[in-house]
Amino acid sequence: MSDFDSTTIYDVLVAGTGMAGWTAARRAQQLGLRVVAADKGDGPGSSNARMSGGFMNAAYVGIREKPDVLKAYAEEVTSGLARKELVEVWAENCSRTIDWLAGEDIIAGLLPERRDRLYILPFRLTPQGLAEYDRERGPDKAMTSHAARFVEQGGLYMPNSRVIDLLVDSDGRVSGAKIETPDGISEIRARNVVLSDGGFQANPELLRKYVGPQADKMKLRSMSSQTGDGLAMALKLGAAVDNMNYFYGHMLHLDSLTNDGLWPYPILDGIISDGILVNRQGRRFVNEQITGEGMSRLALSGVGVTNAVGQGDDPRGAFVILDAESWKRQGWDKDRGEFRGTKPANDTILEAGGTVYKADSLVELARQADIDPHGLVATVEAFNAAATVGKAAGLPVPRSGKPDPLTIAPFYAVPSVAGITFTLGGVRINRNGQVQHENGHAIPGLYAAGGTAGGLGGGPRGGYLGGLACATVFGLICAEHIAATKAA
Ligand SMILES: Cc1cc2nc3c(=O)[nH]c(=O)nc-3n(C[C@H](O)[C@H](O)[C@H](O)COP(=O)(O)OP(=O)(O)OC[C@H]3O[C@@H](n4cnc5c(N)ncnc54)[C@H](O)[C@@H]3O)c2cc1C
Repeated sequence: MSDFDSTTIYDVLVAGTGMAGWTAARRAQQLGLRVVAADKGDGPGSSNARMSGGFMNAAYVGIREKPDVLKAYAEEVTSGLARKELVEVWAENCSRTIDWLAGEDIIAGLLPERRDRLYILPFRLTPQGLAEYDRERGPDKAMTSHAARFVEQGGLYMPNSRVIDLLVDSDGRVSGAKIETPDGISEIRARNVVLSDGGFQANPELLRKYVGPQADKMKLRSMSSQTGDGLAMALKLGAAVDNMNYFYGHMLHLDSLTNDGLWPYPILDGIISDGILVNRQGRRFVNEQITGEGMSRLALSGVGVTNAVGQGDDPRGAFVILDAESWKRQGWDKDRGEFRGTKPANDTILEAGGTVYKADSLVELARQADIDPHGLVATVEAFNAAATVGKAAGLPVPRSGKPDPLTIAPFYAVPSVAGITFTLGGVRINRNGQVQHENGHAIPGLYAAGGTAGGLGGGPRGGYLGGLACATVFGLICAEHIAATKAA
C-alpha cells in the first residue's frame, strides 16, 4: 500500500474490495481512470468473495445461457420482484464476466459433471467455507490477483481503511469520502464513489429493522465485516432501497451457533425437503419445498425456507423431522446428482458432534427435543394422510413436490437455525449502477454494486441470481459508466 496524497482528486474511490469492488477498481483502471480502493479489512480475511465457494453461476442456470433464458429464470425465482432494468443488464452481461476474468488471468473452469455447465473459479473442491479458509482456493487467489495487478498498475490500495462518510459538494455531487484508518480520519477526494461493502448481514440492528423482528438471532454464515456502512451512507443522502427483507442463506444446525464444524456446511436444506420442518409447538409453518419445478430447481428451495424462518419470530426454533427412510437419503438431490450443499447433511452433523434426537415413537422424540408432543403427532398424522394420497399441496400449510409419508421408526429431530450469508436487499441502483434518490433521480457521483445494491434478488421463492456474478456484472457496469461519463 502507498500513502494517498490529500491534494489528488481521484476519478473513483471504491469503498470495499470484494468481488464487486475489485472488479470496479480493475475495470476503471483498464479504462484509464485514477482509482483508490479502500477496505476496512486487512485484505486476506475480510471479503465474502475470498471465502465463497467460487461458483460463477447465474444462480442455478448456466452463466453462458442466452439472455432471454436468464431473464425468464430471474422473473420466476424472484416472483417478479427483481427490477427489470437490472435483470436485463445482468442477463446481457453474465457471460461476459467469465471472459473479463479470463482477461485478468482468472480462469473460471467448468465442472463437467454438472448438467447446468457450472463455472467455478479454479480451486480445490474441498475444503471450502469460512471456517476452513485456504489460500490455495480459487476465490482467494482471484482476489489476491486483482489486488496485485491493481497495485502494479499504479492503483492506490488502502487496507485497514474504513469508509465512514461521503463528502458532498454544494451542488449535491458526491466528491469523496471520509476514511478511518489506524492513524486517524482522513478525507479522500474523488469524482465518483462506488459503494461495494457487501451488504448488512453483520449488523444486528439493521437485520431487526429490515429482515424480521428476531433476525439478529440468525447464524451469520459470512464474514463479519459487512455491516451496512454503504447502505447507511447512501440513506443519509436520500437513497431509495429495494427488497430489504430478503437474504441469501441456508438452514444450519442449531449447534453451529457454538460449533464451527457445523457451518457454513453442512446445510440442512436437503433434509428439510426430505421430511418436514416444525416449530416448538410441533406445527409446520412453511412449505418445505418452496420451489423445484420449472427452471427454479430444487436447490433454491432452502433459500426460501431460510427466509421464512429468519423473517419469523423464532429463527432458532425449528426442527427437521425425519423417519428412518428419509434420514437415509441425507439430502440427496436427484436432479443435480449431489448432496444439496455438497456434503451429506446427516453424517456430517454426527461427525461434527451436532445434536440429533432419535426415538422409536414421535411422542418420545418430542419429549427429548422439547417439542409439544400433541402438536407433533397431529402434524405428522395430517402430513402422512395427505402425502399418502398425493394431496400434500392441499394441506393448510401447503407442501409442494411429492413427499413421502414419515412412517418408519426410528424418527429423528434435528434442531436448526436460519443462517444468513448475505442480504439481497439494498440501495436502489439504475442500469448504470448509479444510486437512485427517493425522488427518482440518480445521486450524482454515487454508485453501488454487489451486496450493497438491492433489486437483483428477493421474493419468497429464494430469488437468488448468483452473488459473485451479480457483483462482477455491476462492478464492470459502474466502472464503464464512470469512464464513459468522463469521456463525454
Ligand atoms: C460461505 C460462502 C459461500 C459462498 N459461495 C458462493 C458461490 O459459490 N457463488 C457465488 O456466486 N456466491 C457465493 N457467495 C456469496 C458471495 O461471496 C458474495 O455474493 C460476494 O462476495 C459479494 O461480493 P461483494 O463485493 O458485494 O462483497 P464482499 O465480497 O463481501 O466484499 C465486501 C468488502 O467490503 C469491505 N467493507 C465493508 N464495509 C466497509 C467500509 N465501510 N469501508 C471499506 N470497506 C468495507 C469488507 O471488508 C469486504 O472486503 C458465498 C458467500 C459465503 C459467505
